[in-house]
Amino acid sequence: MDAILSGRDVLGVMPTGGGKSMCYQIPALLLPGVTLVVSPLISLMKDQVAALTAAGVPAAFLNSSLSGEELRAVYSQAHRGSYKLLYIAPERLEGEGFAALTRQVSISLLAVDEAHCISQWGQDFRPSYRKIAGFVARLPRRPVVAAFTATATGQVQEDIIRLLELRDPVREVTGFDRPNLFFDVRRPKNKMNALSQLIRERTGRSGIVYCATRSAVERVCAALQEQGVPAARYHAGLEDGERRQNQDDFQFDRKTVMVATNAFGMGIDKSNVSFVIHYNMPKSLEAYYQEAGRAGRDGEEADCILLYSAGDITTARFLIENGGSEELSPEEQAVVRRRDYERLNVMTGYCKTTGCLRGYLLDYFGQEHGARCRNCGNCQGEYVTEDITVPAQMILSCVVRVRERLGYSVGKTLIVQVLRGSREQRVLDLKLDGLSTYGLMHRLSAARVRELMDFLELEGYLRVNPAHSTLEPTGRAGEALFHGEKVLMPMRADRVPPPEEERARPAAGPVGQSGLLAVLRDVRARLAQKENVPAYIVFSNAALADMAAKAPRTLEEFLEVSGVGRVKAARYGGIFLKAIADYEAKSVR
Ligand code: ZN
Repeated sequence: MDAILSGRDVLGVMPTGGGKSMCYQIPALLLPGVTLVVSPLISLMKDQVAALTAAGVPAAFLNSSLSGEELRAVYSQAHRGSYKLLYIAPERLEGEGFAALTRQVSISLLAVDEAHCISQWGQDFRPSYRKIAGFVARLPRRPVVAAFTATATGQVQEDIIRLLELRDPVREVTGFDRPNLFFDVRRPKNKMNALSQLIRERTGRSGIVYCATRSAVERVCAALQEQGVPAARYHAGLEDGERRQNQDDFQFDRKTVMVATNAFGMGIDKSNVSFVIHYNMPKSLEAYYQEAGRAGRDGEEADCILLYSAGDITTARFLIENGGSEELSPEEQAVVRRRDYERLNVMTGYCKTTGCLRGYLLDYFGQEHGARCRNCGNCQGEYVTEDITVPAQMILSCVVRVRERLGYSVGKTLIVQVLRGSREQRVLDLKLDGLSTYGLMHRLSAARVRELMDFLELEGYLRVNPAHSTLEPTGRAGEALFHGEKVLMPMRADRVPPPEEERARPAAGPVGQSGLLAVLRDVRARLAQKENVPAYIVFSNAALADMAAKAPRTLEEFLEVSGVGRVKAARYGGIFLKAIADYEAKSVR
């Protein structure tokens, strides 16, 4: 505020709830003439103008929600200089009526809200923001320009300064730490059960459950409602009327739980949200912090819990591959996609780290912090140290053997496949099924093998060649392989896989007696009958048992089931995946 009042340009990066709008509203009252506020969000404009008007500040907005008559009324008042603040959508800056207005009234300050929209690296790139600098240049007198955003990495900050043509701006990055928020990442075996439990523990409290897709919103919301939870749904596929109704129900506490995609929340101002649970991992840490940050705006203690599973990465990749904007050229899209993948890596790192979660977040946003916050799942969690010397030796020797056999290094995926005894065509083509390390870790899930491998990389036993993404042993690998060095891995006690899970696979025995297995047997029997072949030709008992144990949700996961190759996956995958999904939906009740 001091900087703005003394005539300096400003870039303010502060999170939602950090007092951003006050930073331009108060100077607007003190400066002569009018302050223009560029904002992309109609709902936010409405809310702010309503709040300002209620406080006796003359303010109005110009956007597509106004009728012709209302627009004329606002313009005529504006020409008379009646307003201290005028909110405007970026597309309107170029209109002739508005240009005429700007020639007549004196503009002291131009505030750009959600300024990250100007950068293609930001998560909500809006090309209309690129017109702001040209608009400022055409004004008879240049006002102070102040840009604000809740999410901007260093690169986005540079973009904002450059593209808005800010002049030697005062830069403030502040307030990212939200000490009242408790952060945690959980890895439940069954997300729906875990979610029900979390919500039961918070009965009567208001919260948001974010899902990655519309169909997940439908599924989760229906399941919660059946359990008697007062839940509402929200996603872009709903009729306007229902969306508004559900939003109101949540806003006024008629429904305490909102199950939504990321379409929900922009411009929502509900202070008593006491938990935000992510049912899926979002595609970036910016998105996560913005969504999680909707909890605890009243300053009360609140929980931000992310339910993570390896399948989330598959979903996120799908969304990146299919999420291009039509406003961008193919080259621009490729650049954005590459950035999206980098962001996804950072997000995945948050889910896997054993370090302080708050520290991980603050590092990313460039704010300093102490070593341990004591208010996150990782700081409070109990740790056990696991001796992973034997599996480490298996992995390291597999990496060495594969390289000896082929004469070159390969990526992590192929190593995991070899260790787990996969029948993938590529493994067979390269004759890697003849290696002594082939199938050594068939009892472990692919996710677990990858986790061990990631740890070995982190500890410097393996390194990834950045040019080819291939895995290479380092000098330290020899210490563990040949010189008896012990490899110890710290793990959160609640994430240690139960021993029976590791021992029972592939399940020919007791694990196989589940209800799901019976369902899968029925499906197999029907298929066998239809195709007139013995049941084991469709899938062996061992394959069915493994399928029941893994309960895959995607075709990719289906391929992880032992005894499932590409041909069978293509032929039967859809039918079995549907049976599993139906079974899981039912067992939720
Ligand atoms: Zn912590």
